Amino acid sequence: MQSHSPHKLIIITAPSGAGKTSITHYLLQKYPLLSFSVSAATRNPRDGERNGVDYYFMSAEEFQDKIRENAFIEWEMVYEGKYYGTLRSEIERIWEEGKTPMLDIDVKGAIHVQQQFPQQCLSIFIEPPSVDELRRRLESRGTDSPENIATRVNKASYEISFKHHFNVNIVNDELQKACLETETIIKQFLGWE
Ligand code: 5GP
Repeated sequence: MQSHSPHKLIIITAPSGAGKTSITHYLLQKYPLLSFSVSAATRNPRDGERNGVDYYFMSAEEFQDKIRENAFIEWEMVYEGKYYGTLRSEIERIWEEGKTPMLDIDVKGAIHVQQQFPQQCLSIFIEPPSVDELRRRLESRGTDSPENIATRVNKASYEISFKHHFNVNIVNDELQKACLETETIIKQFLGWE
């Protein structure tokens, strides 16, 4: 039986393209008591992305106002000139609904959230089988320019060096297996089994 888990949070982090978004979607569809934490971001929406669902898309000025208002639990310039941040109001909204927020955020942001909520959070690092495989996945996704892919791949090697900061590391060599491993760990953390 799923039960109410007050004030816990789950962070899924990984280099871009390692599969964390697929794993996150699998879990969110299966468990209504998990709720996606919608981040604020200043990049342009991709095809099919919706404001308030995928991100709260905003201008750099709006984002900077929110930094000044201390509205973020963490924020990062994830890519050159592009800001991403977790809104305190978003996490509190999810907790008020009696649900557990799932944060799909970059490695540095994940480390900052862990530092703020050391007793309450489970952090999961999803690792690609290799950096070459990651490059192939980003190319076949077809949503990023070659320059963007090069930036993401370089960043990935750097991010993998931080994997030991997280509670659990899962290698995504096979998506279904990685989903099940992640699910088992989350259910244990939330006392759902
Ligand atoms: P994308 O542009 O592909 O949607 O996301 C790029 C990266 O930004 C991904 O690694 C994603 O997890 C990360 N990201 C998304 N939201 C946040 C956030 O609120 N804070 C941080 N630090 N990273 C985020």
